[in-house]
Amino acid sequence: MAKALTAIIAGGGLGGLATAAALARTGWRVTVFERQNELRANGSGIYIWENGLRVLEALGACEDAIRDAFRGTHFEQRDNRNAIIESAAIPSDRRLMTT
Ligand SMILES: Cc1cc2nc3c(=O)[nH]c(=O)nc-3n(C[C@H](O)[C@H](O)[C@H](O)COP(=O)(O)OP(=O)(O)OC[C@H]3O[C@@H](n4cnc5c(N)ncnc54)[C@H](O)[C@@H]3O)c2cc1C
Repeated sequence: MAKALTAIIAGGGLGGLATAAALARTGWRVTVFERQNELRANGSGIYIWENGLRVLEALGACEDAIRDAFRGTHFEQRDNRNAIIESAAIPSDRRLMTT
């Protein structure tokens, strides 16, 4: 039987955890080291665009991640004078979530 490959990941942020989950799903033995000893919340949501949702789906984590999420219908970008510099509707067949 082949020996499991081993990975050590520094950082339990989105990148580290997604990488850990992806490797673990293919049989790697993964250890994640996180320097913070607790989850921090700064009061803002995080928007997950289609590419991020596809990654979560591939990891089997999408359903849990977007449970109770707000579904975006449009977005705007504004400059430092609060003038809209970009605005667009998000078609209903595309997905934008904030959790
Ligand atoms: C205010 C703000 C709003 C954002 N909004 C969005 C958004 O709406 N949508 C979106 O897609 N992206 C958003 N982003 C970007 C998104 O947060 C980052 O792209 C993403 O968090 C990067 O993930 P990461 O795992 O690379 O890094 P991080 O999430 O920063 O995680 C790195 C982790 O590594 C740990 N670490 C660092 N050094 C060590 C070490 N030596 N040993 C152990 N642990 C260590 C840190 O404590 C941290 O937990 C936002 C960013 C900010 C700042």
